[in-house]
Amino acid sequence: MSRVLVTGAAGFLGSHLCDALLRDGFEVVGMDNRVSGRATNLEESLHHERFTFHEHDVTEFIHVKGELDGIFHLASLASPVFYREYPIKTLKVGALGTHKTLGLAKEKEAKYLFTSTSEVYGDPEVNPQPEDYRGNVDPYGPRSCYDESKRYGESITRGYRDKHGLDVRVARIFNTYGPRMRLDDGRVIPNFAKQALLGEELTVYGDGEQTRSFCHVDDMIGGLMALYESDVQTPVNLGNPDERTINELAELVIDMTDSGSGIAHEALPPQDPQVRRPDISKARTELDWEPSVSLRDGLTETLDFFQTRLDEGE
Ligand code: NAD
Ligand code: UDP
Repeated sequence: MSRVLVTGAAGFLGSHLCDALLRDGFEVVGMDNRVSGRATNLEESLHHERFTFHEHDVTEFIHVKGELDGIFHLASLASPVFYREYPIKTLKVGALGTHKTLGLAKEKEAKYLFTSTSEVYGDPEVNPQPEDYRGNVDPYGPRSCYDESKRYGESITRGYRDKHGLDVRVARIFNTYGPRMRLDDGRVIPNFAKQALLGEELTVYGDGEQTRSFCHVDDMIGGLMALYESDVQTPVNLGNPDERTINELAELVIDMTDSGSGIAHEALPPQDPQVRRPDISKARTELDWEPSVSLRDGLTETLDFFQTRLDEGE
């Protein structure tokens, strides 16, 4: 049986990944310090006989007893609202946390998957973004704590591959949404969902003509598993190329919730990327993977989830 460590296990993607790995027969060790994650996300996994949970900050020395065949390093602050609040924690988890988990992978001779981000492309000057685009990131900008921590993470992952022969994977994840996101996550889909369901105005930042491309969590987990099982040691974009303006997204959420909500424009956060869309040719060719959940179907499930959370008084 294959035994793997998932860091960031109590988070949105980490908890879904743990569930999927358990379904596929893996033994899973989950690790999280719950800075943004929640134990309730692991309700399914916690009862599983092949799952154990360690509450631990991955920027500190990591000790895991027994063999490990793989490590999925997802621990990070991931929402712009959270990483603006915790810039140093964000830098530390991307730098020190990635270093510690790579050291553990080397010690255990485990395969290593690093979850990077479309933010390595910054405010891109080419659209869509292929993997060989080098990006447009301001190293001293307001988003740099996240962008640069992930760029450093990619770099040190490559270092361990080159210097120690570690078997590595790098996923560049584009905007992903679905059940288990926090209502107070601050990213656009939880914000719009909560506002529409409560009949409040939807806060569109700037003129709303900036674009994002939203991938459903089930597709993303499939992509991460396909990458892990592949032999591709270079970065691969994972995301859904269905690009929308933020205005379109707001209208869709209002329409789908039958909400009487209007739209309130607020200031665009500084250096908010103008466009973002993954070129997923490499994932299609080398992983035989592409997303299949439409935005409307994915939002139906996600809006139900947020409605339940609100009904429960969150
Ligand atoms: P999330 O905030 O829901 O989950 C991240 C988890 O990491 C949280 O449970 C948090 O408590 C944990 N964590 C943070 N610092 C830690 C530390 N020092 N030690 C231990 N645990 C720590 O975010 P998510 O959306 O599930 O993102 C998961 C990963 O995917 C992140 O690395 C993120 O950068 C990456 N990613 C996500 C998206 C997306 O749209 N969801 C896009 C690009 C990249
Ligand atoms: N956004 C918005 N209203 C909100 C939250 C976000 O208009 O209440 C915009 C934000 O300015 C950005 C896009 O939605 O252009 C996506 O933001 P998010 O925080 O989800 O993630 P990002 O892709 O910027 O990392």
